[in-house]
Amino acid sequence: MDSSPEVNDEETTGSVNFIQAAVMDDIESGRFDKRVQTRFPPEPNGYLHIGHVKAIAIDHGVAAEFGGEFNLRFDDTNPEKEEQEYVDGQIADMQWLGFEPANIYYASDYFDQLYEWAVELIWQGKAYVDDLSADEMREYRGTLTAPGRNSPYRDRSVEENLDLFARMKAGEFPDGARVLRAKIDMSSGNLNLRDPAMYRIRHAEHQKTGNKWCIYPMYDWAHGQSDSIEGVTHSLCSLEYEDHRPLYDWYLDQLEIYHPRQIEFARLFITHTVLSKRVLIRLVNDGLVEGWDDPRMPTVVGMRRRGVPATAIRAFIDRVGVSKTNSTADIALLDHYIRQELNLTAPRVMGVLDPLKVVITNYPQDRVEMLEAVNNPEDENAGTRQIPFSRELYIDRDDFQETPHRKFYRLAPGAEVRLRYGYFITCTDVVKDASGEIVELHCTYDPETKGGYAPDGRRVKGTIHWLSVAHALTAEVRMYDRLFAAEDPGSYDDFREALNPDSLVIIANAKVEPSLADAEAETVVQFERKGYFCVDSKDSRPGALVFNQTIGLRDSWAKIQGKG
Ligand code: ATP
Ligand code: MG
Repeated sequence: MDSSPEVNDEETTGSVNFIQAAVMDDIESGRFDKRVQTRFPPEPNGYLHIGHVKAIAIDHGVAAEFGGEFNLRFDDTNPEKEEQEYVDGQIADMQWLGFEPANIYYASDYFDQLYEWAVELIWQGKAYVDDLSADEMREYRGTLTAPGRNSPYRDRSVEENLDLFARMKAGEFPDGARVLRAKIDMSSGNLNLRDPAMYRIRHAEHQKTGNKWCIYPMYDWAHGQSDSIEGVTHSLCSLEYEDHRPLYDWYLDQLEIYHPRQIEFARLFITHTVLSKRVLIRLVNDGLVEGWDDPRMPTVVGMRRRGVPATAIRAFIDRVGVSKTNSTADIALLDHYIRQELNLTAPRVMGVLDPLKVVITNYPQDRVEMLEAVNNPEDENAGTRQIPFSRELYIDRDDFQETPHRKFYRLAPGAEVRLRYGYFITCTDVVKDASGEIVELHCTYDPETKGGYAPDGRRVKGTIHWLSVAHALTAEVRMYDRLFAAEDPGSYDDFREALNPDSLVIIANAKVEPSLADAEAETVVQFERKGYFCVDSKDSRPGALVFNQTIGLRDSWAKIQGKG
């Protein structure tokens, strides 16, 4: 790929990246009257994914840094694939991320102007109506190594082209019968310049323009002209548009209209993730996930539903930075930012995922006492709460081993452990059912150890979490793992083979503390010693709580860094 001489070949100079450097040059030379205006131009054919967040952050960041304006423009030129639901969804995603656009524009608002400009190009002899079929056109286009051939319709008169184009617009021809093409150069080394299509016929209803149009502009024809109409100064986009820049420039030059500057940056790739709407939409349509907002999806709605804070996404995107060469970020880095943020903000609660009943045999039958628990040791202002303690408790089954292995410091026959914020307990009996499964433990507690410390200075090695049986709430907990087991699912011919078959495990009968009874949707808490969990925004109800696992506690990124 060749890069324009305009673009600074150094990726970064000091702390200034190549986009900032280019913008600064333009401000200095007065190229756009010292203005800066950017736009994020998604197609409303799906929900935004974390790759889009990178583009938004760059567009938003450049505008903010130079006192400019950042807008959202829907590239809504493909009515069959686009829906109002996606328009609304993408706006909501941007608001949630905290990237408010100054204005919301639609390419479809410019359909009249684009049509007039197309007519102008026909008048100039630079556009023609072609009757070749799609297959023929492909064949005429040539290849990367072989030049293309001129279409037999290329030399139609201006009058004939004007007439045919008007009739295309009037709906006289079926879908695919004709296209309007720019007349550039069928032997160009850049395939995008081999007489690219400007308009195709699609008798399809558009979510904004209804049935007014049956011809729709192609991306390249709509894009630069929309930028021009809006007064965009720096049209920032991902690297795959680099080869489109000569066409972007060509259209603007022929029309002699205001000419923004396109600059490309590397796309975001993340391990174990696919960032392509084409694949994401198949996951949704094939029922491989619950929807765009399935918590395993790399979409903004999916991450939000999983409990990922917007601030963590933004911190990750900042850290990845802006570059001109594609590279793949480790998903462990994103996870690291999620944990770092939630560690500071998420209230701690008790949650028992695999409950095993414990009876404290020397604790009075009807007694309930309230014990003080710290809400967040990382946040002094988070305060404390009272949690009920009683004779019958739940602990997590994996905190008990009947014959403990050497380094197991939690509960075992005869062993003493601390109940978090509670007492020391010692296991005296293991109760099993007929099949030999452990159904209950009997323990004694030491009344002197309230709050978790023994006055005689005696120590225990393990501290475990617990809940009072009579007070615990039952909850469904959805344990999520990576959607793709493969590190590079994008390299598979069939991405389904890269999926992780165990990416969702549902725990129907988890127990959580009573303070969560009224927890609002999207609340994220830490189940002590287990990880971060978010109240599901779709399925959770008071009395029938549903939690999504956001992320576990162990930071593999720190480990990766440690290895150097
Ligand atoms: P997708 O790969 O999801 O189909 P797209 O490019 O077709 O992406 P658009 O809605 O057209 O989706 O994208 C809007 C903008 O987002 C484009 O300018 C594109 O450059 C940018 N973008 C899309 N994916 C990424 C990514 N992974 N990293 C950075 N920018 C991206
Ligand atoms: Mg696209």
